[in-house]
Amino acid sequence: MNTLVEANNPRKHYGTVTAVHDFSHRFAPGKITAILGPSGSGKSTTLAMIAGLVDPDGGSVLVNEIDITRLPAERRDFGLVFQNYSLFPHLSVVENVEFGLRVRGFGRSERRRRASLALEQVHIPHLANRRIHQISGGEQQRVALARALAFAPRLLLLDEPLSALDAKLREGLRTELGRLLNELSLTAIYVTHDQIEAMSLGHELIIMRGGRIEQAGTPIEVYTRPSTPFVATFLGSANLLDGECLRVNGQTRLLLPFMALPMPEGTPSGPCRVMVRPEDISIVADDDGQFRGEVASSVFLGHQARLTVIAGGYALAVDASNEAIPLPGAAVSLRIRNEKLRILARED
Ligand code: ADP
Repeated sequence: MNTLVEANNPRKHYGTVTAVHDFSHRFAPGKITAILGPSGSGKSTTLAMIAGLVDPDGGSVLVNEIDITRLPAERRDFGLVFQNYSLFPHLSVVENVEFGLRVRGFGRSERRRRASLALEQVHIPHLANRRIHQISGGEQQRVALARALAFAPRLLLLDEPLSALDAKLREGLRTELGRLLNELSLTAIYVTHDQIEAMSLGHELIIMRGGRIEQAGTPIEVYTRPSTPFVATFLGSANLLDGECLRVNGQTRLLLPFMALPMPEGTPSGPCRVMVRPEDISIVADDDGQFRGEVASSVFLGHQARLTVIAGGYALAVDASNEAIPLPGAAVSLRIRNEKLRILARED
Protein backbone atom coordinates (compact mmCIF):
# COMPACT_ATOMS: atom_id res chain seq x y z
CA MET A 1 0.00 0.00 0.00
CA ASN A 2 1.46 3.32 -1.03
CA THR A 3 0.89 5.38 2.07
CA LEU A 4 2.27 8.90 1.99
CA VAL A 5 3.82 9.95 5.29
CA GLU A 6 4.98 13.49 5.92
CA ALA A 7 6.83 14.79 8.94
CA ASN A 8 6.46 18.55 9.29
CA ASN A 9 9.04 19.37 11.88
CA PRO A 10 7.72 17.26 14.80
CA ARG A 11 9.89 18.41 17.70
CA LYS A 12 10.78 16.94 21.05
CA HIS A 13 12.63 18.27 24.06
CA TYR A 14 13.36 16.35 27.23
CA GLY A 15 14.13 19.02 29.83
CA THR A 16 17.19 20.77 28.47
CA VAL A 17 17.92 18.01 25.90
CA THR A 18 16.72 18.66 22.39
CA ALA A 19 16.06 15.20 20.97
CA VAL A 20 14.62 16.29 17.59
CA HIS A 21 14.26 19.85 16.35
CA ASP A 22 14.52 20.06 12.58
CA PHE A 23 13.03 17.11 10.71
CA SER A 24 10.76 17.78 7.75
CA HIS A 25 10.45 15.07 5.13
CA ARG A 26 7.99 13.41 2.75
CA PHE A 27 8.66 9.68 2.91
CA ALA A 28 8.63 7.99 -0.48
CA PRO A 29 5.37 5.95 -0.75
CA GLY A 30 5.88 2.20 -1.15
CA LYS A 31 9.62 2.55 -0.49
CA ILE A 32 11.96 1.88 2.40
CA THR A 33 13.47 5.01 3.93
CA ALA A 34 16.42 4.37 6.21
CA ILE A 35 17.12 6.88 8.97
CA LEU A 36 20.79 6.68 9.83
CA GLY A 37 22.78 8.59 12.39
CA PRO A 38 25.06 8.17 15.37
CA SER A 39 23.71 7.20 18.75
CA GLY A 40 21.72 10.06 20.31
CA SER A 41 21.07 11.85 17.01
CA GLY A 42 17.27 11.60 17.44
CA LYS A 43 16.41 8.63 15.19
CA SER A 44 14.32 6.66 17.68
CA THR A 45 12.53 9.75 18.96
CA THR A 46 11.60 10.66 15.37
CA LEU A 47 10.27 7.17 14.76
CA ALA A 48 8.41 7.17 18.07
CA MET A 49 6.73 10.49 17.17
CA ILE A 50 5.65 9.04 13.82
CA ALA A 51 4.40 5.91 15.59
CA GLY A 52 2.45 7.97 18.14
CA LEU A 53 4.45 6.60 21.06
CA VAL A 54 5.95 9.99 21.88
CA ASP A 55 3.95 13.25 21.79
CA PRO A 56 5.70 15.98 19.82
CA ASP A 57 6.08 19.42 21.47
CA GLY A 58 5.23 21.02 18.13
CA GLY A 59 5.01 20.32 14.42
CA SER A 60 2.87 17.61 12.82
CA VAL A 61 2.78 14.18 11.19
CA LEU A 62 0.51 13.63 8.18
CA VAL A 63 -0.62 10.35 6.64
CA ASN A 64 -2.19 10.61 3.21
CA GLU A 65 -2.52 14.34 3.89
CA ILE A 66 -4.49 13.85 7.13
CA ASP A 67 -3.00 15.23 10.33
CA ILE A 68 -2.55 12.32 12.76
CA THR A 69 -0.29 14.11 15.27
CA ARG A 70 -2.78 13.61 18.11
CA LEU A 71 -4.18 10.25 17.00
CA PRO A 72 -3.41 7.49 19.58
CA ALA A 73 -0.80 4.96 18.43
CA GLU A 74 -3.26 2.04 18.41
CA ARG A 75 -5.51 3.86 15.94
CA ARG A 76 -2.76 4.59 13.42
CA ASP A 77 -2.60 1.12 11.83
CA PHE A 78 1.18 1.11 11.79
CA GLY A 79 3.20 -2.08 12.08
CA LEU A 80 6.09 -1.81 14.52
CA VAL A 81 9.20 -3.98 14.71
CA PHE A 82 11.65 -3.12 17.45
CA GLN A 83 15.09 -4.21 18.53
CA ASN A 84 13.88 -6.55 21.23
CA TYR A 85 11.00 -8.19 19.46
CA SER A 86 9.01 -8.54 22.68
CA LEU A 87 7.63 -11.90 21.60
CA PHE A 88 5.89 -13.97 24.24
CA PRO A 89 8.13 -16.98 24.93
CA HIS A 90 5.33 -19.12 26.36
CA LEU A 91 3.16 -18.70 23.25
CA SER A 92 3.62 -20.44 19.90
CA VAL A 93 4.68 -18.60 16.76
CA VAL A 94 1.13 -18.36 15.42
CA GLU A 95 -0.24 -17.28 18.81
CA ASN A 96 2.32 -14.49 18.90
CA VAL A 97 1.23 -13.31 15.47
CA GLU A 98 -2.42 -13.52 16.49
CA PHE A 99 -1.86 -11.55 19.66
CA GLY A 100 -1.89 -8.16 17.93
CA LEU A 101 -5.03 -9.16 16.05
CA ARG A 102 -6.78 -10.14 19.25
CA VAL A 103 -5.94 -6.74 20.78
CA ARG A 104 -7.48 -5.15 17.70
CA GLY A 105 -10.68 -7.14 18.15
CA PHE A 106 -10.49 -9.57 15.22
CA GLY A 107 -12.55 -12.76 15.65
CA ARG A 108 -10.98 -16.19 15.94
CA SER A 109 -11.30 -17.42 12.35
CA GLU A 110 -10.18 -14.07 10.92
CA ARG A 111 -7.21 -14.11 13.30
CA ARG A 112 -6.19 -17.57 12.08
CA ARG A 113 -6.57 -16.56 8.44
CA ARG A 114 -4.54 -13.38 8.78
CA ALA A 115 -1.85 -14.99 10.93
CA SER A 116 -1.37 -17.83 8.39
CA LEU A 117 -1.13 -15.33 5.58
CA ALA A 118 1.44 -13.23 7.47
CA LEU A 119 3.53 -16.33 8.24
CA GLU A 120 3.46 -17.18 4.54
CA GLN A 121 4.52 -13.65 3.66
CA VAL A 122 7.66 -14.09 5.75
CA HIS A 123 8.12 -17.68 4.56
CA ILE A 124 7.75 -19.49 7.91
CA PRO A 125 4.32 -21.21 7.80
CA HIS A 126 6.05 -24.47 8.85
CA LEU A 127 7.06 -22.92 12.20
CA ALA A 128 3.53 -21.91 13.22
CA ASN A 129 3.27 -24.29 16.18
CA ARG A 130 6.77 -23.98 17.57
CA ARG A 131 7.40 -22.10 20.79
CA ILE A 132 9.54 -18.96 20.54
CA HIS A 133 12.45 -20.57 22.42
CA GLN A 134 12.47 -23.37 19.82
CA ILE A 135 13.32 -21.09 16.90
CA SER A 136 16.47 -19.16 15.98
CA GLY A 137 17.08 -15.44 16.38
CA GLY A 138 16.55 -14.90 12.68
CA GLU A 139 13.27 -16.80 12.76
CA GLN A 140 12.14 -14.73 15.74
CA GLN A 141 12.82 -11.65 13.70
CA ARG A 142 10.49 -12.99 11.01
CA VAL A 143 7.81 -13.71 13.61
CA ALA A 144 8.06 -10.10 14.78
CA LEU A 145 7.71 -8.97 11.17
CA ALA A 146 4.72 -11.30 10.62
CA ARG A 147 3.07 -9.92 13.75
CA ALA A 148 3.50 -6.40 12.40
CA LEU A 149 2.15 -7.39 8.97
CA ALA A 150 -0.83 -9.42 10.14
CA PHE A 151 -3.25 -6.51 10.36
CA ALA A 152 -2.16 -5.11 6.94
CA PRO A 153 -0.54 -1.96 8.32
CA ARG A 154 -0.51 1.27 6.35
CA LEU A 155 3.09 1.84 7.33
CA LEU A 156 5.86 -0.34 8.70
CA LEU A 157 8.21 1.17 11.29
CA LEU A 158 11.40 -0.71 12.16
CA ASP A 159 13.80 0.43 14.88
CA GLU A 160 17.17 -1.37 14.78
CA PRO A 161 15.45 -4.71 14.10
CA LEU A 162 18.75 -6.55 13.60
CA SER A 163 20.88 -5.03 16.32
CA ALA A 164 20.23 -7.74 18.91
CA LEU A 165 21.76 -10.36 16.60
CA ASP A 166 25.43 -11.27 16.21
CA ALA A 167 27.42 -9.86 13.30
CA LYS A 168 27.45 -12.94 11.07
CA LEU A 169 23.73 -13.55 11.46
CA ARG A 170 22.96 -9.89 10.84
CA GLU A 171 24.63 -9.96 7.47
CA GLY A 172 22.52 -12.85 6.20
CA LEU A 173 19.34 -11.44 7.69
CA ARG A 174 19.96 -8.02 6.25
CA THR A 175 19.78 -9.46 2.75
CA GLU A 176 16.76 -11.54 3.62
CA LEU A 177 14.91 -8.69 5.32
CA GLY A 178 15.63 -6.52 2.28
CA ARG A 179 14.08 -9.15 0.02
CA LEU A 180 11.01 -9.52 2.25
CA LEU A 181 10.47 -5.78 2.52
CA ASN A 182 10.86 -5.34 -1.23
CA GLU A 183 8.29 -8.09 -1.85
CA LEU A 184 5.81 -6.22 0.36
CA SER A 185 6.23 -2.80 -1.34
CA LEU A 186 4.98 -1.12 1.82
CA THR A 187 5.97 2.34 2.90
CA ALA A 188 8.57 1.55 5.54
CA ILE A 189 10.82 3.59 7.80
CA TYR A 190 13.90 1.80 9.05
CA VAL A 191 16.02 3.26 11.85
CA THR A 192 19.60 2.08 12.20
CA HIS A 193 23.05 3.25 13.24
CA ASP A 194 24.62 0.76 10.81
CA GLN A 195 25.79 2.36 7.56
CA ILE A 196 25.79 -0.85 5.52
CA GLU A 197 22.30 -1.73 6.69
CA ALA A 198 21.02 1.74 5.80
CA MET A 199 22.67 1.82 2.39
CA SER A 200 21.71 -1.70 1.40
CA LEU A 201 18.09 -1.65 2.66
CA GLY A 202 17.05 1.94 2.10
CA HIS A 203 15.74 3.13 -1.23
CA GLU A 204 16.06 6.53 0.40
CA LEU A 205 18.43 7.57 3.11
CA ILE A 206 18.13 10.27 5.76
CA ILE A 207 21.23 11.14 7.73
CA MET A 208 20.48 12.61 11.16
CA ARG A 209 22.84 14.51 13.40
CA GLY A 210 22.08 16.41 16.60
CA GLY A 211 18.29 16.08 16.27
CA ARG A 212 18.07 17.30 12.68
CA ILE A 213 18.29 16.05 9.10
CA GLU A 214 21.81 16.56 7.86
CA GLN A 215 21.15 15.20 4.36
CA ALA A 216 18.54 13.13 2.50
CA GLY A 217 18.68 11.38 -0.86
CA THR A 218 19.20 7.98 -2.40
CA PRO A 219 22.10 6.03 -0.87
CA ILE A 220 24.15 6.55 -4.04
CA GLU A 221 23.50 10.29 -4.04
CA VAL A 222 24.39 10.70 -0.40
CA TYR A 223 27.49 8.52 -0.67
CA THR A 224 28.85 10.10 -3.84
CA ARG A 225 27.68 13.66 -3.17
CA PRO A 226 27.72 14.20 0.57
CA SER A 227 26.88 17.80 1.38
CA THR A 228 28.91 18.09 4.57
CA PRO A 229 32.19 16.69 5.96
CA PHE A 230 30.13 14.92 8.64
CA VAL A 231 28.12 12.95 6.06
CA ALA A 232 31.26 12.24 4.02
CA THR A 233 33.03 10.63 6.94
CA PHE A 234 29.99 9.04 8.59
CA LEU A 235 28.96 7.20 5.43
CA GLY A 236 32.12 5.33 4.50
CA SER A 237 35.73 6.50 4.59
CA ALA A 238 36.72 9.86 3.21
CA ASN A 239 39.83 11.99 2.88
CA LEU A 240 39.06 15.61 3.71
CA LEU A 241 41.54 18.08 2.30
CA ASP A 242 41.83 21.84 2.61
CA GLY A 243 42.13 23.43 -0.78
CA GLU A 244 41.60 26.68 -2.60
CA CYS A 245 39.84 27.35 -5.86
CA LEU A 246 41.49 30.11 -7.89
CA ARG A 247 40.48 31.65 -11.18
CA VAL A 248 43.48 31.91 -13.46
CA ASN A 249 43.25 33.00 -17.12
CA GLY A 250 39.50 32.41 -17.23
CA GLN A 251 39.76 28.92 -15.79
CA THR A 252 39.16 27.73 -12.22
CA ARG A 253 41.88 25.60 -10.69
CA LEU A 254 41.76 23.75 -7.42
CA LEU A 255 45.01 23.97 -5.50
CA LEU A 256 45.62 21.05 -3.17
CA PRO A 257 48.76 20.66 -1.06
CA PHE A 258 50.17 18.12 -3.49
CA MET A 259 48.77 19.11 -6.89
CA ALA A 260 46.51 21.45 -8.85
CA LEU A 261 43.48 20.40 -10.89
CA PRO A 262 41.21 22.15 -13.38
CA MET A 263 37.65 22.52 -12.08
CA PRO A 264 34.37 22.78 -14.01
CA GLU A 265 32.91 26.16 -15.00
CA GLY A 266 30.93 27.70 -12.17
CA THR A 267 33.03 26.34 -9.28
CA PRO A 268 33.14 29.17 -6.71
CA SER A 269 36.55 30.68 -5.91
CA GLY A 270 38.06 30.74 -2.45
CA PRO A 271 39.17 28.37 0.27
CA CYS A 272 37.29 25.07 0.29
CA ARG A 273 37.09 21.64 1.81
CA VAL A 274 37.50 18.78 -0.62
CA MET A 275 36.45 15.16 -0.23
CA VAL A 276 37.93 12.20 -2.03
CA ARG A 277 37.15 8.60 -1.15
CA PRO A 278 39.93 6.00 -0.76
CA GLU A 279 38.59 4.00 -3.72
CA ASP A 280 38.94 7.05 -5.97
CA ILE A 281 42.70 7.34 -5.46
CA SER A 282 44.81 4.79 -7.33
CA ILE A 283 48.41 3.77 -7.26
CA VAL A 284 49.59 4.01 -10.87
CA ALA A 285 52.74 3.68 -12.98
CA ASP A 286 55.07 6.66 -12.50
CA ASP A 287 54.27 8.06 -15.97
CA ASP A 288 50.53 8.20 -15.17
CA GLY A 289 50.87 9.75 -11.71
CA GLN A 290 49.52 13.16 -10.74
CA PHE A 291 51.50 13.30 -7.50
CA ARG A 292 53.84 11.21 -5.39
CA GLY A 293 53.57 9.93 -1.86
CA GLU A 294 55.17 7.58 0.62
CA VAL A 295 53.38 4.54 2.00
CA ALA A 296 53.18 4.82 5.80
CA SER A 297 51.20 1.63 6.42
CA SER A 298 49.11 -1.00 4.72
CA VAL A 299 46.35 -3.18 6.08
CA PHE A 300 45.33 -6.34 4.24
CA LEU A 301 41.51 -6.59 4.22
CA GLY A 302 41.10 -9.71 2.11
CA HIS A 303 39.39 -8.37 -0.98
CA GLN A 304 41.71 -5.35 -1.04
CA ALA A 305 44.24 -3.43 1.01
CA ARG A 306 43.87 -0.06 2.71
CA LEU A 307 47.01 2.05 2.56
CA THR A 308 47.97 5.20 4.37
CA VAL A 309 50.02 7.34 2.03
CA ILE A 310 51.75 10.55 3.09
CA ALA A 311 51.49 13.33 0.51
CA GLY A 312 51.57 17.10 0.94
CA GLY A 313 51.39 16.77 4.72
CA TYR A 314 48.24 14.62 4.58
CA ALA A 315 47.88 10.98 5.57
CA LEU A 316 45.67 9.81 2.72
CA ALA A 317 43.58 6.64 2.92
CA VAL A 318 44.01 4.83 -0.40
CA ASP A 319 42.49 1.53 -1.51
CA ALA A 320 44.80 -0.80 -3.38
CA SER A 321 44.35 -4.15 -5.05
CA ASN A 322 45.35 -7.05 -2.81
CA GLU A 323 48.00 -8.12 -5.33
CA ALA A 324 51.43 -6.54 -4.94
CA ILE A 325 50.64 -4.40 -1.87
CA PRO A 326 53.39 -1.76 -1.50
CA LEU A 327 55.40 -1.99 1.71
CA PRO A 328 55.71 0.83 4.23
CA GLY A 329 58.41 3.25 3.08
CA ALA A 330 57.75 2.65 -0.64
CA ALA A 331 57.49 5.73 -2.86
CA VAL A 332 54.40 5.53 -5.06
CA SER A 333 52.74 7.54 -7.82
CA LEU A 334 49.06 8.32 -7.36
CA ARG A 335 46.13 9.49 -9.39
CA ILE A 336 42.76 10.85 -8.26
CA ARG A 337 39.62 10.34 -10.33
CA ASN A 338 38.95 14.05 -10.76
CA GLU A 339 35.25 13.60 -11.41
CA LYS A 340 34.90 11.98 -7.97
CA LEU A 341 36.35 14.94 -6.09
CA ARG A 342 33.65 16.69 -4.17
CA ILE A 343 33.77 20.22 -2.84
CA LEU A 344 31.90 20.37 0.47
CA ALA A 345 30.27 23.09 2.49
CA ARG A 346 32.53 24.04 5.37
CA GLU A 347 31.36 22.87 8.78
CA ASP A 348 30.60 25.51 11.40
P1 ADP B 1 19.02 7.75 18.64
O1 ADP B 1 17.83 6.90 18.35
O2 ADP B 1 19.56 8.43 17.42
O3 ADP B 1 20.10 7.05 19.40
P2 ADP B 1 17.26 9.10 20.52
O4 ADP B 1 16.11 9.59 19.71
O5 ADP B 1 17.08 7.85 21.29
O6 ADP B 1 18.54 8.98 19.55
O7 ADP B 1 17.71 10.23 21.52
C1 ADP B 1 17.96 11.58 21.14
C2 ADP B 1 18.35 12.37 22.38
O8 ADP B 1 17.23 12.48 23.23
C3 ADP B 1 19.46 11.75 23.19
O9 ADP B 1 20.26 12.78 23.72
C4 ADP B 1 18.71 11.02 24.27
O10 ADP B 1 19.51 10.90 25.43
C5 ADP B 1 17.53 11.93 24.51
N1 ADP B 1 16.34 11.17 24.96
C6 ADP B 1 15.67 10.24 24.23
N2 ADP B 1 14.62 9.76 24.94
C7 ADP B 1 14.64 10.40 26.14
C8 ADP B 1 13.81 10.35 27.31
N3 ADP B 1 12.73 9.56 27.39
N4 ADP B 1 14.15 11.15 28.35
C9 ADP B 1 15.20 11.98 28.29
N5 ADP B 1 16.02 12.09 27.21
C10 ADP B 1 15.75 11.31 26.15
